[in-house]
Amino acid sequence: MYQSSKIPREDSPVSIIGAGVAGAWQALLFAQAGHDVTLHERSDEAMMLSTSHWAGGMLAPYCEAEAAEPIISRLGLQALDLWRRELPDTPFNGSLVVAHRRDRNDFERFAKLTTGHRRLDATALAELEPSLEGRFRDGLYFAAEGHVEPRRVLPKLHQRIIAAGGTIKFNSEPAPDDIEGIVIDCRGIAARDVEPELRGVKGELILIESSEVSLARPVRLIHPRWPLYVIPRDDHLFMLGATSIEAEDWGVSVRSALELLGAAYAVHPAFAEARIVEFGSGLRPAYPDNLPRISIDNNRIRVNGLYRHGFLIAPALAELTLAYVDHGRIDNEVMRCV
Ligand SMILES: Cc1cc2nc3c(=O)[nH]c(=O)nc-3n(C[C@H](O)[C@H](O)[C@H](O)COP(=O)(O)OP(=O)(O)OC[C@H]3O[C@@H](n4cnc5c(N)ncnc54)[C@H](O)[C@@H]3O)c2cc1C
Repeated sequence: MYQSSKIPREDSPVSIIGAGVAGAWQALLFAQAGHDVTLHERSDEAMMLSTSHWAGGMLAPYCEAEAAEPIISRLGLQALDLWRRELPDTPFNGSLVVAHRRDRNDFERFAKLTTGHRRLDATALAELEPSLEGRFRDGLYFAAEGHVEPRRVLPKLHQRIIAAGGTIKFNSEPAPDDIEGIVIDCRGIAARDVEPELRGVKGELILIESSEVSLARPVRLIHPRWPLYVIPRDDHLFMLGATSIEAEDWGVSVRSALELLGAAYAVHPAFAEARIVEFGSGLRPAYPDNLPRISIDNNRIRVNGLYRHGFLIAPALAELTLAYVDHGRIDNEVMRCV
């Protein structure tokens, strides 16, 4: 099933298509390694056409182990070091998992299926997050996890690419076949023309504003259907996320809105007075096994299928692609030669 593939020439120019989190990390590591990098993006700088724009931005390799394959934790742990190295101001102040009484069994199951957490009683929970005082009997604290604000971190990554000598062309939608040299296709769900197995898994979110609640880290609320969470942003904003629906339409349904807002209210009743700032949704690019792939066809490389874990794993995927181009190293779990 796997064929050998000719290693591209190290000194060829590298064109990356798609400046979402996958493409941005590829461009950054290749530019830093001395390659002549051009990153093409069909959106303008606001990146409204990328799934990454709509993401929560949690860097949560331990929590994700509850539902994801071990490869996600492996790549995620590798990636945390890269986030720390490239953007040292990334907050790594952990994440919390809490549950209401009726979801107690799911909470215990979550605790059993994950590592890297410490159980906090109500007092310790309130010390860590004073706004949660009296709200929950206990919680799981994943101290080593982090989170980024996608709408701030993508421009920062883009700036670092330019600082490393790369070029970014916004409003640029080249045909891959017309490009010389190495092409790394990071078009996410738009790459379906060459990756017919890709599907979009819709994630809905709501942005709210409240000055009555203050959180320092993402709080996940155990829920029988979806991992619902509240992520604090700057300026008293909170992102409520995220549904996971096998559909490729846009917008937020009334039912999803009720569930997301209900989760916020369950975390803290003061959220009832919060102002709704935005409803939004994005399509997570996923293969049937929900695992990421680096597909290599000589000097055409496709990085896709980041599904629910783009921010968590993109840096590690970029490191793997670079190791292949520079040294011919193949990671059998993620790469396939086509
Ligand atoms: C609601 C929600 C919450 C999420 N929360 C998290 C989270 O907390 N943590 C996490 O790790 N992940 C999270 N994700 C998943 C994450 O957002 C995705 O895995 C990730 O954004 C995929 O990145 P990508 O770069 O592959 O695709 P995209 O971000 O979609 O980037 C692809 C880019 O390619 C561009 N493009 C397409 N075609 C062309 C072309 N022909 N020429 C030029 N450019 C082109 C597009 O405009 C786009 O900017 C979440 C997703 C959603 C929807």
